[in-house]
Amino acid sequence: MSDNSENNKNNIQLSSPDKENLTKKRKKKKFKKTSNIEISVVIPLYNEEESIPELSDLIEKELEQLTNGKYEVIFIDDGSTDNSFEEIKKVNQNNKKFKCIRLRRNYGKSAALSVGFDKAVGKYVITMDSDLQDDPSEIKNLIDKLNEGYDLVSGWKKKRYDPITKTIPSKFFNFVTSAFSGIKLHDFNCGLKGYRQEVVKSLNVYGEMHRYIPALAHWMGFKVTEIPVIHHPRKFGKSKFGISRFINGFLDLLTVLLTTRYFKRPLHFFGTVGTIISFVGFIITTVLVIEWFMGLTYLSNRPLALFAIGMVIVGVQFISMGLIGEMIIKISKENDKKSYGIKEYLK
Ligand code: UDP
Ligand code: MG
Repeated sequence: MSDNSENNKNNIQLSSPDKENLTKKRKKKKFKKTSNIEISVVIPLYNEEESIPELSDLIEKELEQLTNGKYEVIFIDDGSTDNSFEEIKKVNQNNKKFKCIRLRRNYGKSAALSVGFDKAVGKYVITMDSDLQDDPSEIKNLIDKLNEGYDLVSGWKKKRYDPITKTIPSKFFNFVTSAFSGIKLHDFNCGLKGYRQEVVKSLNVYGEMHRYIPALAHWMGFKVTEIPVIHHPRKFGKSKFGISRFINGFLDLLTVLLTTRYFKRPLHFFGTVGTIISFVGFIITTVLVIEWFMGLTYLSNRPLALFAIGMVIVGVQFISMGLIGEMIIKISKENDKKSYGIKEYLK
């Protein structure tokens, strides 16, 4: 019995030159596939059945011309409950360059993008929304800008057709994100963006992180810019993001900051906040103590005294958190050389 299985094993085992040939072939095949396709368009969609036929037509016209047929379109059906998937199937039957990955449930736009990024093989990757608000005619402009030497080109909906309840908070978000991320853009969250392939393969997008992709890429050392793009009002259906976008968006900004800008130096973040709070608390306490010594005040009458002492304690806690963070960084595996993005390797 054991001899037999040994034999079987030997039968399927390849000799090492054969193995080498096979891996070479595989590599060649993979390379061929990657080099063949110029542009991959990644489109996340959730219940957008009405838009799919028109959107597909527009993209097909644009890309057949632009790439000489060397393109692919990857729809990510993010758990749609309408007929979106059936609509995409029809498009796919007419043109196999239109593919679709159907997710088991609605995971959110970031997850859908992440799946698309994983599958895209084009030299350039374009993302766009599926609701016809983004215009496929802008793909050429994004590629032209990438060819000027940028790694990521983000669309800027200069003239925007969205309700005011969306445009005003969005202005605030863009201002805050610009200030904290260190990259000045007017519109971080535009669905229309162009990337070099290596950018999408390095990005790790989850939660509501799609809003901060330019900031993430900037912190990974990629060259990021923006160009104004045409924006249309939503033709069918309604926006998929409700009020939760604000709170989730804010929390994800914190995550982005802590995992990019301050990832390797938590004490700089927590320490700065903690030192400022403690210092203000200390000054107030000192002034109050001097006044008390001089008999000008009773500390029992001054709620400010409690508040100031609270500030000192909270500040010290922030600093301690930063120190613990530093210790974790020191022992964590993430801190090895692999987590630095290498651009080139000259041997
Ligand atoms: N979307 C998605 N999953 C979601 C929510 C949205 O794939 O859970 C897609 C949606 O179908 C659209 C894009 O993300 O193609 C942008 O969504 P929407 O137009 O609702 O956002 P808005 O333009 O209002 O910011
Ligand atoms: Mg939209």
